[in-house]
Amino acid sequence: MNKQNKNEIIKTLKLQREIFGDDLFIPKNKIKKSVVKEPPSFFEKPELFSKPKADSSNNNADWQNASSLDEFEKLVCNCTKCRLHQGRNKFVFGTGNPNADVLVIGEGPGAEEDKQGLPFIGRAGKLLTDMLKAIKFEREEVYIGNIVKCRPPENRTPLQDEMDTCLPYLKKQVELINPKLILCLGLTAAKGLLKKRESLGQLRKSVFEYEGARVIVTYHPAALLRNPHWKKDCWEDLKKFRKMYEEITG
Ligand code: URA
Ligand code: SF4
Repeated sequence: MNKQNKNEIIKTLKLQREIFGDDLFIPKNKIKKSVVKEPPSFFEKPELFSKPKADSSNNNADWQNASSLDEFEKLVCNCTKCRLHQGRNKFVFGTGNPNADVLVIGEGPGAEEDKQGLPFIGRAGKLLTDMLKAIKFEREEVYIGNIVKCRPPENRTPLQDEMDTCLPYLKKQVELINPKLILCLGLTAAKGLLKKRESLGQLRKSVFEYEGARVIVTYHPAALLRNPHWKKDCWEDLKKFRKMYEEITG
């Protein structure tokens, strides 16, 4: 055996010893056998052997076959697919008309939404209600949801992997609601849904398509609360949205 081979073998054995311990190297008859007197108590508790409770949200077959929003919500409301579930108080599925022509999409639940389990009920939510009223939509008439369904810590922007993990749920909601038009609120919602890299200014200029619905992007109401001078441009977007709605629905 040449020296190089010998060194290789020694290195490999050392590594194995690090990983598997001494048992691998001590002859079997030298290993001390401990006498087992009584079975450990967990042997008497068969429930300890049962499989962990399945998280129904991770069972794709179930939720993907849901035929109503209520059924779907029940199947995914305990989701743990991304880290956002850790800080969640309530899962915020979305609310509104299950047959809405218009779907409004925000970013993710804030503090108040997380407390109550409903989207857009804080200050930004009030402004959203007014924005919809201004273009002749009642809140109950449309459906309101978010890109992520659990509140990000400290209201930070959801991360790309969180949005990507949660998006199949929104896609399924779109499939069940089958809206004609989607209003995306803010750059994060637009990026999350459409996977575009342009600025909000660029995105506002175009009409997109998602699962058969036309999509318009405008400002997030929380951004309008911070920068009221954007309201004028937002009003133009909303008018365009209403016009499109009337064209489509006749
Ligand atoms: N902001 C959002 O984007 N969504 C909400 O539900 C509330 C505030
Ligand atoms: Fe599941 Fe979405 Fe909540 Fe993440 S944000 S845990 S993917 S429901």
